[in-house]
Formats: sequence, structure tokens, C-alpha cells
Amino acid sequence: PPASDFLAILRAPHEVLFGAGQRLALPWVAARYGSRAIVFADPFLTSSPEFTAALAGLEDVGIATHVYSEILPELPTHTLDAAVEAARRADAEMIIAIGGGSSIDLAKVVAVLMAHGGPIQRYYGEFKVPGPGLPVIAVPTTAGTGSEVTPVAVLTDPDKESKVGISSPYLIPTVAICDPELTLSCPPVVTLASGVDALSHCIESYTAVRRASTGGLAGERVFVGKSALTDELAITGIRSIVDGLERALTHPQDVEARAAVMYGALLGGLAFGTAGTAAAHALQYPVGAVTHTPHGIGVGVLLPAVMTYNAPARPAEMAAIARVFGAEGSQEACAASAPHLVAGYLARIGIPASLAEIGFPLDRLNWAAGQGLAAVRLSENNPVPLTLDGALRILTSAHSGY
Ligand code: NAD
Repeated sequence: PPASDFLAILRAPHEVLFGAGQRLALPWVAARYGSRAIVFADPFLTSSPEFTAALAGLEDVGIATHVYSEILPELPTHTLDAAVEAARRADAEMIIAIGGGSSIDLAKVVAVLMAHGGPIQRYYGEFKVPGPGLPVIAVPTTAGTGSEVTPVAVLTDPDKESKVGISSPYLIPTVAICDPELTLSCPPVVTLASGVDALSHCIESYTAVRRASTGGLAGERVFVGKSALTDELAITGIRSIVDGLERALTHPQDVEARAAVMYGALLGGLAFGTAGTAAAHALQYPVGAVTHTPHGIGVGVLLPAVMTYNAPARPAEMAAIARVFGAEGSQEACAASAPHLVAGYLARIGIPASLAEIGFPLDRLNWAAGQGLAAVRLSENNPVPLTLDGALRILTSAHSGY
């Protein structure tokens, strides 16, 4: 791009380790941050020999550990107090999260609550966290959310109709250790939902709002948005996920396939941690609240209709996405085929065909459109402005099946 338009910004952890076996580095990494850790462990892990080995490794380097595993999926707010209390009792100097996005998000939120107090509601939205929290070492066991590198935590608050997000650079974990071998045990529904979540992060950040290069740093409001750097990450992430996800579903023990998906999820997290996500994520919140389907499933059902809505504003990006799925020819022809190719791919790997199929009632589409728009941080990041009418069109199309 011309120099005047060239912008490359990335928000990321201090350190990212990726690769089969990297979990063994945890003790040496953790030793830099103190000698007392609270370990938030996903409940599926606690009886596994790998987890026992991880704890032994931490003890070997002189780190006292307390394990807390009362972790519920989708992070309900009523679970926070007990987790903070456990971290206080452990006099924790750091939080180690080993698990899916729910466990890692819990660690990120507790790190803030330990340093700055509650209630959690004061941090909802963007840039509300006043400063750094406890160091967080994130060790994902799913390949999807990218939470190990993002400035975001997502919670379920019974006082709100949809899920709520906290976004702040202070939420970015200090270190991410991504070991694809930890995802070998994921059951198919988790592999599918988290893999499609990762694909949607890549696609939504790749096609998000592009910021003008005239911005800069304004206090702590680090200027963020889609840029050359997030584009590289996002398109490579799409390729990597498409390379591995179908194989990971049909051959769950294929470490290379698992690594490809996890690498794509990591790149997706890095991309959307700076560029943000958009309409598919905004509209999934009300869909998830009503249907209780995993986040990645709802996003997958919505994604093709969102891509159709956004295609006029992002022809080059849509064409590049279509080429990953095998399209050839002119930019125009490739761009036009992108939503169909993604829809066909998602159907093939097992994403339901419509909102109707996942039980979303027709008479709540208007409500969902309003809720999607209310997620301002996401809806304002959509490349085609998301109007009420536009949101309703996307939902109506996704409801009958793309
Ligand atoms: P999850 O953490 O909710 O876990 C889903 C289920 O999979 C749980 O029952 C868990 O015990 C199990 N599980 C996890 N790893 C496993 C493994 N290796 N083997 C067997 N079972 C395993 O799922 P997730 O998709 O990783 O996270 C979803 C949460 O993350 C949602 O709350 C979502 O809103 C949030 N999220 C956060 C961000 C972010 O940037 N912070 C981004 C996207 C989504």
C-alpha cells in the first residue's frame, strides 16, 4: 500500500510459545513471575496425568500451586467471587489458566478483580480497566477462542439479555503457551464449535473496518483496527484452519491437523485482538442467549449471510478468502463466490444450515437485530454500517438457511 496508508499495529502478549510439547516450558516461564500461583484448571483436566505432571513441574522449580477448577462454560458472573476468593487465599502472584476460553477468560477477569476490585460490571465495555492486573499465563486446551492472546473476556450476566464483553489492553495475557497436543482430547462438538469460532475471527478481522493512518496514540486508547499486519495474520489463519479443521474432525488424533487449527486460532486471536470482530459476533450474542448453542455454532450459522452483506465493501478480501477455498478467476468473480464457498464448507463440516434449525424463533428476529446493534464495539466495526434493517436482513437470510 502507499506509505501514507500503511498502518501496522499489533497488540499481543509479552511472549507466545507455539508447538507440540511446548507445555513442558510452563514451569520455567512461570518461575519469572513469582513463587505462588493459582491454577485455574478446566474440570476435564484435573484427573489427567498430563495435568499432574504440569503441577509437579511447577513444584520442581519452587512454585507453590493451588488448583481451582469450579469453572463453568461461558463464564457466568456468579462464579467470579469464589474464584477471586481462592486466588486471595492462595496469595497468588500469578494466575495460570489451563483450559478452554471459559477458563482463560476467568483468569483474565480474576487478574483484574484482584488488582482493582469489583464489581465486575464497572469494566463492561471498552477501556474501562484502570491498569495491569496479576500476570496471566494462558495455556489453551481448545483451538478456537484465541483468548490466550486477546484483550477480551466474555461473560454471562443474568441481568443482561445477551453476553457481555470486557475489552482492555490490560486483559492481554502475559504469556501464551499453545500446545496442540492438549487439544487431542477435544470431543467433535468442541473441535467444531471452537474451530469455526477461530475461522470467524480470521474472516471478521480480515474484513473489518480499516482505520485511517492519521490516527495515533491517545492516552491509553491505543489506536486499533484492521491493518497490514492483522491482514497477514488473518488470511494465513484462514488457510491454516481450512487446511486442518476437516482432518481434525475426521481424524481427532492427527497432531498435524490439530496444530494447523490451533495455529489458525492463535493467528485469529492476534488478528482480532487488534482489528476486532464485527456483525457475526454481535448477532451471535442474542442467538446464543436464546438457543444456548455454543458460540462457534451460532457464529458459523450467521457468517455466510454476514459475508454477503459485507461483500460490496471488501472485494479484495472476499476474493482472497474465496481463493483459499479453491476459487479461480477475476477478483470480481472470486469475491462474489466467497459467501457460497464458506457456506458450503461450513455445511460439509457439520454446522447447522439455519437459525431455524438451531431453534431460534422467527418472531424474535427483530429483537435480535436490536441486541446486535447494541453491541456497539462489534457492530461499529462492520465494514458496511450495520443498520437495524441490515441486521434484520442478515438474520432473516440466516434464519431460512443460506
Ligand atoms: P470452553 O472453555 O467453554 O469449553 C467447552 C467444553 O470443552 C468444556 O466442557 C470444557 O471442559 C471442554 N474442554 C476444553 N478443552 C478440552 C479438551 N482438550 N478435551 C476435552 N474437553 C475439553 O470452550 P471454548 O470454546 O474454548 O471457550 C468458549 C468461551 O470463550 C465462551 O464463553 C466464549 O464467549 C469465550 N470467548 C472468548 C474470547 C476471548 O477473546 N476472550 C473469544 C471468543 C470466545
